[in-house]
Amino acid sequence: MTTCCDILDKVSLAAAYRWGPYIWPGGYPQFLWIHEGDILCWKCFKENYAEIWRALVADDQESDWYPLSIEANWEDDALYCSHCNAHLESAYGAPEED
Ligand SMILES: [Zn+2]
Repeated sequence: MTTCCDILDKVSLAAAYRWGPYIWPGGYPQFLWIHEGDILCWKCFKENYAEIWRALVADDQESDWYPLSIEANWEDDALYCSHCNAHLESAYGAPEED
C-alpha cells in the first residue's frame, strides 16, 4: 500500500501505477518526484512508466526518470509538470479560473 512520501520501491511504484492519480483515503491529487527535484504529473508518469521502472530497477540515479517519491499536492497551486508543463491540481488551493 502506498502512503504519502514513502521512498519508492518497486512494490509501491507498481501499486501507485495501478492505483491512479489520487491518494486514498482522501482523494488528494498526487504526483511523482523524479531525478533532481523534477516533478511528473500523473499523465507523464503513466506514459513513461517503462522508463521510470527501468531506472528504479537498475538503481540508475543518473537517469532523468529516476523516481524519488510520490507525494500529495495539498495546496501548492504553483506546481507544474517538469515534462509536459501541465498545471498540477492541488487539494486545497484556489480553484482555477479561466
Ligand atoms: Zn506531465
